[in-house]
Order: sequence, then C-alpha cells, then structure tokens
Amino acid sequence: IEAEKFRLPSATVDLNLLAVEVHEALRHSRGTRGEDIVLQLDENVPPVAGDRVQLSQVLHNLIGNAMKYGRTGTPVTVTLQAGPRDAVVMQIEDESEGIAPEHIPRLTERFYRVDAGRSRSLGGTGLGLAIVKHIVERHRGRFDIASTVGKGTRVTVTLRAAER
Ligand code: ATP
Ligand code: MG
Repeated sequence: IEAEKFRLPSATVDLNLLAVEVHEALRHSRGTRGEDIVLQLDENVPPVAGDRVQLSQVLHNLIGNAMKYGRTGTPVTVTLQAGPRDAVVMQIEDESEGIAPEHIPRLTERFYRVDAGRSRSLGGTGLGLAIVKHIVERHRGRFDIASTVGKGTRVTVTLRAAER
C-alpha cells in the first residue's frame, strides 16, 4: 500500500488543453487581470505522464502567483514547448518587482513568504509553491525559479512525455 504513494501517475495529460482550462477558470474568477494571460501553446507538445488534477493544481498555483505578484496591466505568459528527448517544458512568466536571489531557495518551504506585510495584504498562505514542488517531484519532473529584480519572474516546470 505504501508503494502506491510513490508510483508515477500513469494517466496521460494534454497540457495544451489543461492550460486552456486553467486560463478559463482564472479569467472568470479574477476579472480583468485574467485577460492579460497570454497562452503560447504548441500542438507538437506530446501528452505527459501524469495526474490531471495535480497538474491542474500546478498551473493554478503558478499562474495565480504570476497574476498576484505581477504588475497590474502587464501580461502573464504561459509557454509550452517540446524539449529535448522526452521533455515537455512549461514556463510561466510575469513582469514584476521580481524576487531577490537570497529568497529563491526558500520559496518552496511551507509558509515562506518574501514580504510578510505585502503578502498578507495580497492574501494566501505561503503553501502554493510547496505544493507545486511536491507534485512536480511526484512526477519526477524538474522545477526552477529564475527572477530578475525590477523585471520579473520565470518559473520553469519540466515534465516527461508519456510513453507511446
Ligand atoms: P498561497 O499560494 O498559499 O496562496 P503565496 O502565494 O504567498 O500563498 P507561494 O505560492 O508558496 O505562497 O509563494 C511563496 C512566496 O513567494 C510568496 O508569498 C511571494 O512572496 C513569492 N512569490 C511567489 N511567486 C512569485 C512571483 N511570481 N513573483 C514574485 N514573488 C513570488
Ligand atoms: Mg501562491
């Protein structure tokens, strides 16, 4: 029974479709800011091996962060690309104040928030990225945050194509 927890989810998930769904959901729940989500999809991206509900959660949390911390009036860009070999690369980019380098390694800690005061007024618990990291690890994927202070943040999630 324990081993079940560590098994790679076996379903196949179309990330193009998932991105459209999450975009729709956030567009309706967040009003005007949602119109600034730019989807750069790629029909050549193969389905990935994974759990649809969990991967939807990853997109929700990452696009949600980009919308929440991004500057009003600037776009959030979601890009899907087929990577080398069987990699599928998903990137979520925002234009914002960015994150100072000393914070980056700690962002996936539960309840860690960069600016307690500002973060409190924006709402949230500090769990979003901890959940993302957990889910990506369960998929044996990679997760990376790159940020430039004064410019913005880019989160990259690399997953594996399902075997065909
Ligand atoms: P929750 O996701 O639980 O609602 P949260 O957004 O504060 O709350 P995380 O998603 O785990 O929690 O993010 C942790 C912290 O990392 C945030 O409080 C914020 O300070 C910083 N952060 C996350 N994403 C970005 C981003 N795109 N730009 C700037 N800062 C970010
Ligand atoms: Mg969050």
